[in-house]
Amino acid sequence: MTERLYYDDAYLWKFEAEVTACRNGKRPGTWEIALDRSAFYPTSGGQPFDTGMLKWKGGSARVADVEADADGEVWHTADKPLEPGTRVRGEIDGERRTDHMEQHGGEHMLAGALWEKLGGVTIGLHLGQEDSSIDADLPEGRTHLTEEEILLLEDTVNRRIRKDAPIRCWFPEKEELKKLPLRKEPTVKEHVRIVAMGDFEMVACGGTHPASTGRIGLVKIISVTPARGKARITFVCGGRALRMFQTYMKYADKAGAALSCPVAELSRAAAELKYRMAEIQKKANRYETEDLLGQFRAGENREDMPGAALAALTLPEHESKAVAEAVSRYIAEPGKVLLLSVGEKLTFARSADVAIDMNALIKRVARGGGRPDMASGAGIPECIGVARKILMTERYQAAAGKG
Ligand SMILES: [Zn+2]
Repeated sequence: MTERLYYDDAYLWKFEAEVTACRNGKRPGTWEIALDRSAFYPTSGGQPFDTGMLKWKGGSARVADVEADADGEVWHTADKPLEPGTRVRGEIDGERRTDHMEQHGGEHMLAGALWEKLGGVTIGLHLGQEDSSIDADLPEGRTHLTEEEILLLEDTVNRRIRKDAPIRCWFPEKEELKKLPLRKEPTVKEHVRIVAMGDFEMVACGGTHPASTGRIGLVKIISVTPARGKARITFVCGGRALRMFQTYMKYADKAGAALSCPVAELSRAAAELKYRMAEIQKKANRYETEDLLGQFRAGENREDMPGAALAALTLPEHESKAVAEAVSRYIAEPGKVLLLSVGEKLTFARSADVAIDMNALIKRVARGGGRPDMASGAGIPECIGVARKILMTERYQAAAGKG
């Protein structure tokens, strides 16, 4: 069983150890190395593994993964094999570990405050690349938190963090353990390790924690969303919270400059802009509709078909709302037949008093369909000419035959 050096000192980045075993790794070109003692943290309890280096006389290997097996042996996935008995120096990526400790420590503070202030019980921690999340069982099966509750949690947690209370980890004796005011029952029976975050929170945990609450830094909740009947609380801590603040400020400042307003006025300015855009769009649609109607009328031909005005037109892209509005207004007038191609879209329509089946007609020249008075489809502009010819000849002959 590997001696876990991080239990006693979570800031131990460098240590000496001896290789006790070496086996092939899961991927080709990798080996799993066991040491008699290690400060590398193996993935567990939602906290990801450490990375770093193993160095020895005349060589070094990169540690890309760390796992513990059921027997408590810690296996370091390295890019070189090592002979058992080799003395090595382990070096941990302290920046990565510090980040993990900030997120993990923040999670304890958040879970403690959630329990104390809102009666919420947290289940598990997911420490992600960008942010972290905990799922909380809330009273009455609620799956969300109000804005006030989120503020209460953030204020409580950050006030406690600023008190910079010591964080203590230890293995209590059975008698002591029974008396400890733990937030929830330990999931393990033997070798229960306790972490106390000042007087604010006490629970069993085998992870790595900062030395005091102040070293967690800022804790900020990003979102609370329902997840499988629980409330998923997503948050960032420490350096991540600072980076997020920097990013948000950068974009908020840019948006403020673009809208010529202070950041606090952004949502009002954006809502106003959206409203004005909608008004302008409405006006533009009205102009476009009128313009299209004018084009339909100018393109009419009364010689093509007896008793009806035929407009066969190919137009460039137009706002689809304006096209639909113009078409319906056009065929509301009596005696109109419209064969229209706008972009790739075809619309065949006619007035109620004209007896042509537009659905049947469009199916003869393109892909599409619809009602007898209006049909639409997709096709090349040349379809318009073909449809016009059909109407000019067949319809005309039919009408002539009738006469
Ligand atoms: Zn912990």
